Amino acid sequence: MYNTFGVKANSLYFEDADTLSELINILKNPLYQNVDKFILGGGSNVLFTQDFNGLVIKISLKGINVEKEDENNVYVKAYAGEIWDDLVSYSVEKGYGGFENLSGIPGLVGATPIQNIGAYGSEIKSSFESLEAININTGETRFFNLDECKFGYRDSVFKNELKNQYVVVSVLYKLSKKPIINLSYKALKDYFDLIKNNNPTILDVRNAVIKIRSEKLPDTIKFGTAGSFFKNAIISKDKFEILQKNYPDVPFFLEENEKYKIPTGWLIEKAGFKGQRYGNCGVYEKQALVLINFGGATGLEVFEFSKLIQDKVKSIFDIDIEREVVVI
Ligand SMILES: Cc1cc2nc3c(=O)[nH]c(=O)nc-3n(C[C@H](O)[C@H](O)[C@H](O)COP(=O)(O)OP(=O)(O)OC[C@H]3O[C@@H](n4cnc5c(N)ncnc54)[C@H](O)[C@@H]3O)c2cc1C
Repeated sequence: MYNTFGVKANSLYFEDADTLSELINILKNPLYQNVDKFILGGGSNVLFTQDFNGLVIKISLKGINVEKEDENNVYVKAYAGEIWDDLVSYSVEKGYGGFENLSGIPGLVGATPIQNIGAYGSEIKSSFESLEAININTGETRFFNLDECKFGYRDSVFKNELKNQYVVVSVLYKLSKKPIINLSYKALKDYFDLIKNNNPTILDVRNAVIKIRSEKLPDTIKFGTAGSFFKNAIISKDKFEILQKNYPDVPFFLEENEKYKIPTGWLIEKAGFKGQRYGNCGVYEKQALVLINFGGATGLEVFEFSKLIQDKVKSIFDIDIEREVVVI
């Protein structure tokens, strides 16, 4: 099973690309010319609700190397099939700052710019320099810089106008030789306050993030999950004022352009779903943003449950919550 939700699904064709030339040969293969294609990394952000009637290409290209460096920065290139957290571990060991808050996120390097992964007050776009990708239809190589990726909250050009058009082959990240510790995320700051460490290193931050994550997230050996199933809700000022009037305890973060970010986990909890079971799936008891497969759930079952949650949240709060997970 190539997905962390642990749901069963088959594809018509399956290929594993270990090298760039293998990937190009797969894309050129006449058998696959008029066939739908899905690029798979670690399968930690997908939900298969049905069999895929096309070609799944698993990306396994490996390699990490320093491309260039100057007094302040080091530019590390990693191939798409590298395990993301191995790259974080490598960088922290070398003393390069930028990735430490993103420790412990499952999945592979190639998906990091697709999703603009984020956690604990950091997003990949802050350490992103450029990426190399192959056009799925033409086989041509194209480089994308920061602006061209159009990063947003768990979003990029690859989920919008260039959806299903490029395979990310490698990513070039810009890391700092003089790391600046980012404790903007409250849980992280509280952690270091509690242990009275007011001068943490990037290794301390990595270890703290891994510890906090292990307490908040389900054990992926026991349960199927894709982490946060929904994105946090971004709402207008008008809508926020109504919400706050009805629920004075609503947590929020002020965003750009007078928008408000509302933790969707809070909305789901208020709607009564936290810890609730629906057939073989449910909402994780410690974090309502996380849906889990207790064993034997189908992708469709999880999807239907997620629809139920969306409808109830909409009917109570008049807020549309969007899935973060890619649904097939
Ligand atoms: C327990 C758990 C905790 C998590 N915590 C976080 C978190 O804190 N923050 C966060 O941001 N995410 C989190 N996630 C979600 C997930 O780990 C990330 O989104 C991750 O980047 C997905 O990587 P992947 O390789 O598994 O991608 P996949 O799930 O395989 O694919 C995700 C999407 O990216 C596309 N894709 C993958 N590789 C490529 C490529 N090389 N080229 C083109 N397209 C590609 C796929 O087609 C798909 O659309 C969590 C998931 C789990 C299971």
